[in-house]
Amino acid sequence: MKFNKFLDDIKVYEAGKPIELVVREFGVKPEDVVKLASNENPIGTNPAVAKVICKNADKAHLYPDDSMYALKASLASRFGVQETELIIGAGSDQILEFLSRAKLRENSSVLMSKVTFAMYEIYAKQVGAKVFRTASYEHRVDEFINMMEKYSPDIVYICTPNNPTGDAISKKDVFSIINATNEETLVVVDGAYMEYAAAKDEKYHIEPKDILKFDNVIYLGTFSKAYGLGGMRVGYGIAGKTIIDALYKMRPPFNISSLSLAAAIEANKDDAFVKKSIYLCKEQIVRYESFAREHGLEYIESYTNFITYLFDESRDANKISDYLLNKGVIVRNLASYKLNAIRITIGTAKQNDRFFEIFVEALK
Ligand SMILES: *Cc1c(COP(=O)(O)O)cnc(C)c1O
Repeated sequence: MKFNKFLDDIKVYEAGKPIELVVREFGVKPEDVVKLASNENPIGTNPAVAKVICKNADKAHLYPDDSMYALKASLASRFGVQETELIIGAGSDQILEFLSRAKLRENSSVLMSKVTFAMYEIYAKQVGAKVFRTASYEHRVDEFINMMEKYSPDIVYICTPNNPTGDAISKKDVFSIINATNEETLVVVDGAYMEYAAAKDEKYHIEPKDILKFDNVIYLGTFSKAYGLGGMRVGYGIAGKTIIDALYKMRPPFNISSLSLAAAIEANKDDAFVKKSIYLCKEQIVRYESFAREHGLEYIESYTNFITYLFDESRDANKISDYLLNKGVIVRNLASYKLNAIRITIGTAKQNDRFFEIFVEALK
């Protein structure tokens, strides 16, 4: 059977391996598996959120509130924006998909950093758009501006902090890139890990209301990382009304389940949980940095809840990740991004202990 010819050029997104797979394939006991591969919140589900999810269980027969009034009101007040400047997606991933379909068609083009979130490319290719990448994995202003002048891309993706590398681009540099775009270029500022960057260094803190000054920019955020709701699939986009109106034309009705809406509303009330998550990460990431220094490993300075270790030719990220996996430690191998590196989500103290224990063996 023939499908859309653009699909031939798409590699399926490789999600982090689930705990069940490691138990099944390697015979590791479920309680011994340490999953540090998907940047999930290691503290677990916020208990207040779990309670609200249970409380809403008897409303499963009803469609959710499609206006998402309560969640929008709560996000609008958190960010100091208007409800008309918001759209909610099943993860910010779904908003990336809306953006691609709304803005791109065959022979459109997009620009992104050399190593960045894999879904930008997949959504672009689905509609036949060309993908241009900068030469460096860091977001460098000069490279972005040169390539924008050369290719006039329809969408420019700025992932800050960037996944899977963990580095970030300062607010000043983001504005330099935005200021160099023309009004027809849509700039996507993906702030999936912004809570961590904001806590680390205010110069890297981009607030959605900062970008509302520009008519051609959208800010994306998610409940999946610092807010600990990866399994509920809730993300949001914040932009001027023209962009939001276009995205609404792409949105299927009831795209967020009633349980997810209730969970996100509750999560948004609980600043203490987010603070605790950020604090744990701050406290534990130091161990990864010292470990790297002690063992002569290179790492990328992280503004996120994960860290990327870069290996030289004497080591092989494939072999190291396989070794870890066999022992029940799941990390992200970045070989598919053409980096001889692994990305490790910062876990709880106990999870990190286990990682170091096995990683030392893997290095030998
Ligand atoms: C995790 C992540 C997202 C979106 O996650 P959702 O769970 O779909 O909200 C978007 N961008 C980056 C860079 C991410 O790491």
